[in-house]
Amino acid sequence: MGERFRRFMAGRYGVDELSRFLLFSALALLVVEFIINTFFKELYVVSRILNLIGLILIILNFIRMFSKNHSGQYRLNQKYLRAKASFLRFFKDFGRWGRSKDKTHKIFTCPSCSQRVRVPKGRGRIAITCPKCKAQFIKKT
Ligand SMILES: [Zn+2]
Repeated sequence: MGERFRRFMAGRYGVDELSRFLLFSALALLVVEFIINTFFKELYVVSRILNLIGLILIILNFIRMFSKNHSGQYRLNQKYLRAKASFLRFFKDFGRWGRSKDKTHKIFTCPSCSQRVRVPKGRGRIAITCPKCKAQFIKKT
C-alpha cells in the first residue's frame, strides 16, 4: 500500500454510487447463498448461480474501479442514478395509489405542468385551476 498503491490508482476511476450498489448486491447475494447452503441444500443449483452472479458483480466493480475511461464510467453511474430514481418514483407512486382510497376527494393531474390537484368529489363537471401554473381544465368530479 502507500506510495506504490497511490501511484497505481493515479488516473483511475475509483468508487462511486454504482460501485457501492454492485458491492452491496454482491454482499446480499452472498447472504442469500449462505441461507440456501445452510437451510435449503436441495437448491444448490440456485446457490451456484447466485455465487456466479456475485462474482461477476465483484469483477465488474473492480473493472470499473481501475478503469481509466472516466467519462464512460461516469455515464454508467449517471444511468444507474436515473434508473434508481425512477425505481424509487415507481414505489412512491404505488404507495400514493394505495392511499388514494379517498372517498371525498379526487386527484387530477394538471395537463400543462402535471402537478397533482386534489379536488372534492361529487361536484359534477367543474373547471379546476392548477395551483402551480394557473392553467384551467374541466373535469368531472
Ligand atoms: Zn399546472
